[in-house]
Amino acid sequence: PPVLMWFRSDLRLADNAALAAAARQGPVVAVFLRCLPHWRRHGHGANKLDFWHRGVAALGEALAGLNIPLLHRDLNDFAQAPAALLAIARELGAAGLHFNHEYPLDEVTRDRAVVEAFQGAGLGAWGHHDRVAFAPGELLTGKGDVYGVFTPFSRAWHRRLSGERLALHDTPAPQAHLPIAADALPALPALPALEDTPIDGRQWPAGEGPAADRLERFLRFRARHYAEQRDMPAIRGTSELSPYLALGMLSHRQCLQAVLTENNGRLTEGDPGLAAWVNELVWREFYQHIAFGFPRVCRHRAFQVHTERLAWRDDEAGFAAWCEGRTGYPIVDAAMRQLVATGWMHNRLRMITAMFLAKHLLIDWRRGEAFFLRHLVDGEFCANNGGWQWAASTGTDAAPYFRIFNPTTQSRRFDPNGRFLAEWLPELAALPAKARHAPPRDRLRELGYPPPIVDHRAARTRALDAFASLKAG
Ligand code: FAD
Repeated sequence: PPVLMWFRSDLRLADNAALAAAARQGPVVAVFLRCLPHWRRHGHGANKLDFWHRGVAALGEALAGLNIPLLHRDLNDFAQAPAALLAIARELGAAGLHFNHEYPLDEVTRDRAVVEAFQGAGLGAWGHHDRVAFAPGELLTGKGDVYGVFTPFSRAWHRRLSGERLALHDTPAPQAHLPIAADALPALPALPALEDTPIDGRQWPAGEGPAADRLERFLRFRARHYAEQRDMPAIRGTSELSPYLALGMLSHRQCLQAVLTENNGRLTEGDPGLAAWVNELVWREFYQHIAFGFPRVCRHRAFQVHTERLAWRDDEAGFAAWCEGRTGYPIVDAAMRQLVATGWMHNRLRMITAMFLAKHLLIDWRRGEAFFLRHLVDGEFCANNGGWQWAASTGTDAAPYFRIFNPTTQSRRFDPNGRFLAEWLPELAALPAKARHAPPRDRLRELGYPPPIVDHRAARTRALDAFASLKAG
């Protein structure tokens, strides 16, 4: 009998644990459940949904090359998944179902219900840990707790890592033709709730082919300079692989294997650029462990519970200025414009803009988290939530609350020639490079650029007071 492979955010044939296991068991029929209303409720915007859609189309073509039909079902809600999958299994007389685990709470709940439904029907349902080297819960502190701090987590991760954990799973060989037709991928509907139109898909070609090309280009041209260049937004010094990793068009094992090959079999020593890059992949894994181990963060709660008493400000005008890139702080504004125009933002700028919203404007970080998700092509709950809670000092390794980036200093340091500013703020391009970080007040009107929405020192004091009152209270 055939066996089902349920694809979700693992849209690839290569090195896919569940797919490899399914192919060992029998002829494979692939299924994709599109839950647009549910994903909308999770906050995903047009860019991510469009990228997902194109990724599924690319996957369908790749599967066709292996004679694996891909079936599509449109659902409104995760709660419909068990019935939809059981109906397919019964119709095809399938022996069971394979899938790769996802770790945020809703996904975990959905998958548990699916496993129960299959077991109740006397069918197999097998979940595989594919997105991470260690299943959440596998790496624990000496006291048996989930790590809530990155550095000891990372140490444990490296200590316990083995070649076996990083071994690539086989890509299935083509199977005999099945008398089951693939479904045509239904077009992505213009959802009423979709406020935005997706950015041009050519910026982010979907599928494992483009993902592999990017990885190769990164290793060839950027990786060795990564340690020095990764914080410079004017330089394309990072891999820009986040959308591909988020939807599993590329696996972390493929990335780490590529590093081992480039770096004489080492992950942490040898080339500093490659070692720094590996560290980011460990952060990616860490935040997935956090979402699973501390599911309150999936319920819009703070990781540091005491920070929930913080009195965030209601400031619609401030929030709108932040979203639209008119705070009067050029580095913040350039970054926000990059986000809206490209669906991606450089990591250094994600930290600066997030901290600006949470600290300078003292606006609830959850509003920024949602705005990011609405625009990011790589929007991914665990990393996004982790990054936002870090910036707002409510999270795991949260920046201590008194650490408040001065956006102008950050700008001078990480965009010293003002190149990134000129690219995204053409109204400032005519200024000498050094003046772009804080345009002279008397020229703002002529330039058509707004004055700073808050004074850095005053805003800093306000944030410090707000956080200090938490301690007192
Ligand atoms: P590289 O520097 O090449 O890093 C390689 C990979 O490591 C990335 O593709 C990503 O998968 C992972 N990674 C890197 N940094 C981090 C990090 N700090 N946390 C977790 N994983 C990381 N990343 C997302 O993938 N999706 C998000 O929605 C997201 N939201 C963020 C929000 C905020 C406020 C912050 C501060 C960071 C966020 N990040 C997010 C993490 C990081 O900014 C991006 O992963 C990175 O900028 C992607 O660019 P890259 O692929 O060139 O990264």
